[in-house]
Amino acid sequence: MNCPFCKEPMIILELNKVEIDFCPNCSGIWLDEGELELLYSIDKSDSELQKLFQQTTSSKEKSYKCPICRKRMIKTQFSKTDLILDRCPQNHGIWFDKGELEKVLTIKSNSSSEKILSLLKDMFSYNKSQEAE
Ligand SMILES: [Zn+2]
Ligand SMILES: [Zn+2]
Repeated sequence: MNCPFCKEPMIILELNKVEIDFCPNCSGIWLDEGELELLYSIDKSDSELQKLFQQTTSSKEKSYKCPICRKRMIKTQFSKTDLILDRCPQNHGIWFDKGELEKVLTIKSNSSSEKILSLLKDMFSYNKSQEAE
C-alpha cells in the first residue's frame, strides 16, 4: 500500500499487537476500518468512538485519495477540535497526518490508548524533545 500523501510505500508497524501502516517518509499513519477500536481495545460494534468523527466542509486542506479504493477521502473533524482527518467515503479507513494519531489518543483516552501513545512516543522521538522532564 502506498502513502496517500507522498505516494511512497508504507511499512507495517505493530502497536500492541495491532498492525498499522506507517509512512517512513512523512510519518503519516493509515488505520484500516476497525483498527482504531483495536487500539482502544473496544468492540468494533461500539459506536461511541465513531460518533466523535463528524464530516466537515469547512476545511480548506487538500483531500487525499484512499490508498485502497482511490476515492477522494472526506474531511472529518474529530470531537469538536480543530483536528481534521481524512476518511474513506467507503469506510476503508482513516488517514492521520504526522502527529494526528497521537492527538486523537490524547484527546480521547483510556488505559489502552495511553499504552499505545507511549509506544508511539518511543518510536517517534520527535515528541520527546518537546516534553518537560
Ligand atoms: Zn507519506
Ligand atoms: Zn477506500
